[in-house]
Amino acid sequence: MGKIFSTLIDMSYPLKPKCLFCGSQENINYFGLCKYCVSLLPYISKPVCTRCGKPYSHGVSHDACSLCLNTEMYFEKGYTVFEFSGIVQNTLYRLKYGGETELADVFGKLMADYAAELKEHINLIIPVPLHIEKLKKRGFNQSWLICKALGREWGIDSSDKALVRLRYTESQINLSKKQRLSNVRGAFALNSRFKIQGKSVLIVDDIMTTGSTLNECSRMLKSGGASHVYALTAACPVHMDEPMADTEP
Ligand SMILES: [Zn+2]
Ligand SMILES: [Zn+2]
Repeated sequence: MGKIFSTLIDMSYPLKPKCLFCGSQENINYFGLCKYCVSLLPYISKPVCTRCGKPYSHGVSHDACSLCLNTEMYFEKGYTVFEFSGIVQNTLYRLKYGGETELADVFGKLMADYAAELKEHINLIIPVPLHIEKLKKRGFNQSWLICKALGREWGIDSSDKALVRLRYTESQINLSKKQRLSNVRGAFALNSRFKIQGKSVLIVDDIMTTGSTLNECSRMLKSGGASHVYALTAACPVHMDEPMADTEP
């Protein structure tokens, strides 16, 4: 019996949806999550920089963070949804390194819901690109998968053809803010065959560390004639002083 029998059962009883985070079949909501996993989502509760959306790890003395105050910023406004911790850290790792690509749909939906006010301001959604060698190794760009889910939710075009990553950037872990900026300078280029002129673009990444990668991508998009650039990331570490296990693209 075995295989044939269980196949027959599968055919006669369509599978109940499972929580994409934990596998439970109880109370699965629109995002594909059970109530319990929803209750564990670490939405950012700390004050955030009004410009780049990054949470402050310490007290707030300005509306904008030191990066935004001291650097030329090329995106209009940034949003980040979750703290990079707990269940979100775990599932982003499962997406990125475990190849559980269906998790991108969950994040795309959650991000679409969180940043709903952006929808009317943009007409193109693009990911922070991976270097071609990294793409070959991993087989997919997790940020592009999130973009596609977002685009489906909002009915807005998405493309991974607008920008290319020219070189690997070193891990940002041990770099100062200034070094992080110069580390990404020139790391991206516009695809000359892609028309970015006049587009209002949302650039998407899974994790924001300093915002310098998003800013450099935005600089390129603006140089190509993008009218507006907004940034949206799934998660951001709140305690930036602590070393991070993962900052690679
Ligand atoms: Zn669950
Ligand atoms: Zn900021």
